[in-house]
Amino acid sequence: MSNFLDRMEITLVNAVASLFSPAGSHARLSIVLYHRVPHEPDELLFGQEDAHSFEAQIRHLSTHFNILPLHQAIQKLQENTLPSRAACITFDDGYANNAEVALPILQKYNATAAFFIAAGFINGGMMWNDKLIELLRRAPGPVLDLGEIGLDKYDISTLTKRRETLFILIDIFKYLPHEERFEQLNRLRQLVPAAVPENLMMTADQIRQLHEAGMEIGGHTVNHPILTRLDKTAAYTEIEQGKKILENIIQAPVRYFAYPNGKPGRDYLSEHVDMLKEIGFNAAVSTAWGTAAKNADIYQLPRFTPWNISRNRFVLQMMQNMYRPVQTVS
Ligand SMILES: [Zn+2]
Repeated sequence: MSNFLDRMEITLVNAVASLFSPAGSHARLSIVLYHRVPHEPDELLFGQEDAHSFEAQIRHLSTHFNILPLHQAIQKLQENTLPSRAACITFDDGYANNAEVALPILQKYNATAAFFIAAGFINGGMMWNDKLIELLRRAPGPVLDLGEIGLDKYDISTLTKRRETLFILIDIFKYLPHEERFEQLNRLRQLVPAAVPENLMMTADQIRQLHEAGMEIGGHTVNHPILTRLDKTAAYTEIEQGKKILENIIQAPVRYFAYPNGKPGRDYLSEHVDMLKEIGFNAAVSTAWGTAAKNADIYQLPRFTPWNISRNRFVLQMMQNMYRPVQTVS
């Protein structure tokens, strides 16, 4: 009986969700976005996904949505033939736990996803913000004295203080010019007696593993710069080289792109959209919230990161995202 009621509820929820996201020319494509998916909850970066919360969301997605591979979803969006409650799953940056933790969960639910990988950090590299996170995670307390590199003394005696310090430092480093940030980070690494892991990001083998499992591998530049802070030539090279490195690894075309940071007008401009077309990408995703509808710009498809793990709240949150106005650059 409870099984029957459960099925009734699913049918009912799906019927309501289909009103928000019907099939055909009034369809809405929901694209969800993930980053790290560690096995265990990350105490320092609370609020992030872990294996348990990620699996709950993929289970809800597979129960209440029609999960499509990105290439199929984009094609159907353009042909006005999307099914009701269409959804795609994407990951940004290329964390190794996407292959180790997320892939088996995706496979359990027969779901395909697209992985947008910053090609400069494969095989042991790390983005600047992750370097800060991993150093702060391991720095011995109770005080972190960064006076020698022109910063303050920070209280890291508790997890909360450590997290606060991390966010302060991320804000400071975020606004440094690329070269200066690199040098300052190196000085910080000298000061903090802690080793950072070398297996945070995917290896080339893991990228091939995802590709062979039928997952889409997408471009995300080489060094994950904010494109608007680079001159045109440098931005073009970042986008083009990122594509080439990944294509070399998977021996197949890299067809889609995710803008680093991805906020329209702030992190990328229409000149970058034009570059993608010239370089030969078929479509791209931003981090503007909302869903894609008929006549959406397929080079600026919006994405959304749900955070609820209870089933009905998850669906409600996804429905709330369906009629958000989508920000784009033109
Ligand atoms: Zn990214």
